[in-house]
Amino acid sequence: MSQIKVHDRNFEVYLPEATILEKIKELAARINRDYEGKRPLFVAVLNGSFMFASDLFKQLNIEAELCFIKLASYKGMKSSGNVVTSIGLETDIFGRDVIIVEDIVDTGKTLHEFLPKLQHQQPRSLKIATFLHKPEATTYPLKLDYVGFEIPNKFVVGYGLDYDGLGRNLKEIYQVL
Ligand code: 5GP
Repeated sequence: MSQIKVHDRNFEVYLPEATILEKIKELAARINRDYEGKRPLFVAVLNGSFMFASDLFKQLNIEAELCFIKLASYKGMKSSGNVVTSIGLETDIFGRDVIIVEDIVDTGKTLHEFLPKLQHQQPRSLKIATFLHKPEATTYPLKLDYVGFEIPNKFVVGYGLDYDGLGRNLKEIYQVL
């Protein structure tokens, strides 16, 4: 279906499933090259990143570990600005090569606030993989190392991303109309 309704809003397909999966293979190929022999630890930020983390992880052919943390609350169509750690990081990241896995970087506030907390634990390296990035919306300085797609500053759902709880199960990324 090219158009759908989630709650009160209409959305149209922006990134089809095949396009998404092709891009993930590209990102995984880069990570496979960059992290050969390093046994990186992927730290995926719940809830939105679960699908991206899963598809990306399946494409890795190097030794790698994955854990999930929960940080942000996001209400409605506007970033709430509340960054809350509700599920902590239990794996020791000291001396590890860490890759944060995010669904989307919007203002950049979430990661900007969270990165110093991770740096404090002295990982060997710390990089960011985000499936989507809205460059026009990003006001907090961030170095994004692996970016799936740069997208316009419009609300999107699907592929793990929700609109007030719904839409996470969609295989495609949909943009609000
Ligand atoms: P930031 O801190 O970069 O402003 O926001 C990051 C978080 O906001 C993301 O992890 C995501 O939960 C949420 N977010 C930002 N833009 C969108 C969007 O277009 N759609 C959805 N569903 N969530 C978004």
